[in-house]
Amino acid sequence: MKIDILAIFAHPDDEAYGPGGTLAKYARGGYKVGLITLTRGEAGSMGICKTLPPEEVARMRTEELKCAAKELNLAYLRMYSLPDKALENYPAEEGIRIVKTEMLALKPTVVITFHDKGISGHPDHIAVAQWTREAVKQLDSRPRLFFYGVSPSQAEKIKPYRSVIPFENGEITHIIQTQDFFPYKLAAIRCHASQIELWEKFQQIEGGYEYFARQEHFSQIYPPLSVSQPYSDLLESPE
Ligand SMILES: [Zn+2]
Repeated sequence: MKIDILAIFAHPDDEAYGPGGTLAKYARGGYKVGLITLTRGEAGSMGICKTLPPEEVARMRTEELKCAAKELNLAYLRMYSLPDKALENYPAEEGIRIVKTEMLALKPTVVITFHDKGISGHPDHIAVAQWTREAVKQLDSRPRLFFYGVSPSQAEKIKPYRSVIPFENGEITHIIQTQDFFPYKLAAIRCHASQIELWEKFQQIEGGYEYFARQEHFSQIYPPLSVSQPYSDLLESPE
């Protein structure tokens, strides 16, 4: 199978709360979009996850991610069972090997992962960003690599509910308009019922979550790119 866009994340729900609008936009616009998650989120500390044994949380979050993948119309979903909340201590060469194997099999044009400051600073997000960057570097035929992150103004708005590390000025190379695909992003978020506390908090964002999420921000990491005006399409070749 050849995938146009491959998203690589640590946890079930990263795709929905992260670039869910962008994934839905391409997946529903005729492109093949795939997702791999490195853990099944069994160390989740939100809501119902606190009261259940880890294997039960993993089972539940697996089903939630399948539901989200369906809402986003993804063509490919692969979940690994690496240890949640422990990726920074997991052998990096093994993480890189997994990511590289997926890229060799799926031949993505574009790869997306979280910003290497981890968005929320989560060490798992940082580890996956580093593995992905290294795996791309090791390929002979490299996909274009993007980090997903939030803009400084989004970080400001979300601050009362979650502390996030935004892109710095000049890092954003692509801004994707996702307002028309918000219903799919929202449906994917709702699939992650175990994480509903987060959704409840985000509903209080000033101006509303829909307005907050109307644009998704990316930084092209490979090939390196500096822009005067951000591009509006991840598949648009800026050469
Ligand atoms: Zn996460």
